[in-house]
Amino acid sequence: MIVFDLRCSGAHVFEAWFASSSAYEEQRDRRLLVCPVCGDSDVVKALMAPNVAAKGNARQVPAVMPTAATPASDAPSPAVIKAAMQAIAAIQAQMLEKSEWVGRAFVDRARAMHSGEADVAPIHGQATRAEAEALIEEGVPVAPLLVPVVPPEALN
Ligand SMILES: [Zn+2]
Repeated sequence: MIVFDLRCSGAHVFEAWFASSSAYEEQRDRRLLVCPVCGDSDVVKALMAPNVAAKGNARQVPAVMPTAATPASDAPSPAVIKAAMQAIAAIQAQMLEKSEWVGRAFVDRARAMHSGEADVAPIHGQATRAEAEALIEEGVPVAPLLVPVVPPEALN
């Protein structure tokens, strides 16, 4: 008999006895190994080397090693990110409903509105990063769009 320290995907470590190393592998492959804490059947060996027997209290508790098979569970899944991007795009579309697309004329129009040469109205369009920074330095209230906007002329 040999004992293995096993670890479930929930990072619970527990001991299990097997007739042999191959008996462990067979039971693992058939997903017969179940975590006694949470019932998870996604169980792997927590240690590389099996312990033949526990020697009193001298045996050390195995440390759990992070592996590539243990992704950070806090990281949002691609589906969550996609849903968030769609929500942002919807909010932006709402904001832009009453705004006029002016394309490359954006910088001139924004500057004219800021100086009083033109009536102030909500507009959105295109500007280079340098142009946008220059506007902000002049005190023109511009903000980057949250998601790229497809110019109306590109939809035709
Ligand atoms: Zn568990």
